[in-house]
Amino acid sequence: MNIHEYQAKALLHEFGVPISRGVAVLKASDSEAAAKQLPGPIWVVKSQIHAGGRGKGKFKEASAGDKGGVRIAKSVAEVNEFAKQMLGATLVTIQTGAHGKQVNRLYIEEGSDIDKEFYLSILVDRESSKVSFVVSTEGGVNIEEVAHNNPEKIVTFSVDPATGIMGHHGRTVAKALKLSGDLAKQAEKLVAQLYNAFTAKDMAMLEINPLVVTKQGQLRVLDAKVSFDDNAMYRHPEVAALRDETEEDAKEIEASKYDLNYVALDGTIGCMVNGAGLAMATMDIIKLYGMEPANFLDVGGGASVEKVAAAFKIITADPNVKGILVNIFGGIMKCDIIAEGVVAAVKQVGLQVPLVVRLEGTNVEAGKKIISQSGLNVVSADNLDDAAQKIVKAVKGG
Ligand code: ADP
Ligand code: MG
Repeated sequence: MNIHEYQAKALLHEFGVPISRGVAVLKASDSEAAAKQLPGPIWVVKSQIHAGGRGKGKFKEASAGDKGGVRIAKSVAEVNEFAKQMLGATLVTIQTGAHGKQVNRLYIEEGSDIDKEFYLSILVDRESSKVSFVVSTEGGVNIEEVAHNNPEKIVTFSVDPATGIMGHHGRTVAKALKLSGDLAKQAEKLVAQLYNAFTAKDMAMLEINPLVVTKQGQLRVLDAKVSFDDNAMYRHPEVAALRDETEEDAKEIEASKYDLNYVALDGTIGCMVNGAGLAMATMDIIKLYGMEPANFLDVGGGASVEKVAAAFKIITADPNVKGILVNIFGGIMKCDIIAEGVVAAVKQVGLQVPLVVRLEGTNVEAGKKIISQSGLNVVSADNLDDAAQKIVKAVKGG
């Protein structure tokens, strides 16, 4: 789960992390009052969307102006003017894709006098199975570019879970950022605060780009992007409450209500599979035969008829889906349950696209019987290869 920048900053602030003061607004008419709560003389009006690259982003609407999604305002009136232009407009950044994201919230923040911009992120490194830091003096810009062109400017290290965060970690960061004296001390303190926030809240990633040194000699978090480990959300109702469903794919929200492992993709072949490995293989083989999957979906082991029906409805509701491939290797999941779920869903919502079903394993005969007696226009397949070829052919033919 992801949250907005302003929410991430409020959360980090609870751990003592130095951030700028700011106020979030949903309506342009609230922007002046918000700006007046801040000292000025410079304000920053920041689009709140779940995507980075906002500063260099472009609005689709000409009426929103061409100053990007993060704007420096020199007066309260200008804050208001920007708010009117940006709210409701669609911002396209390198992370949103061409369709962009509508800006429904703004964060109005006090402006900082920036001396230097750094990069700092914390993530769970699967290779070392540890919480790792990535630090660079080259902040503010695209870190992927730095990693590609100047990899020597990126310092990484991981924290041993047995010891937790220690003084030397902070000193490593200070050294990597070429900080000394009081700023090095600030960096050491900040590193511990960030690590504590990261572990206490079960974050999966915390990216600060930029972390700045102000002209007044203060280290400050100017941008914060946080994502959480979904499997740990039950421990953090206060974090779950920060969820902004308008930022998420409606199909994924629906899937999460049924506890389905579903990820929306851009292709045209909807897939319903049991087991994450088989789901990946199914996506691969669809690509092998020249088409793209519309989703990843693992219905899991012990799915009920209702859950299967819900999954099928989510797939058919996607207007990009031009064909559906059901691929079940029944183990714990029984083929007849899948068949019943598919039939129940089709009865409710109909079926406008070709459907190929490959069933194998537990209760396969019962499953095949349910499908053949249902009167549904289903193409059955004997194995994965056969199934993929059949659905691709059916979609191309149609
Ligand atoms: P994004 O990464 O989505 O473009 P940022 O929050 O990093 O958004 O803002 C882009 C740039 O705008 C920053 O690199 C920084 O130079 C500037 N900026 C952001 N917030 C402030 C602020 N409070 N004061 C001054 N400059 C800021
Ligand atoms: Mg940034």
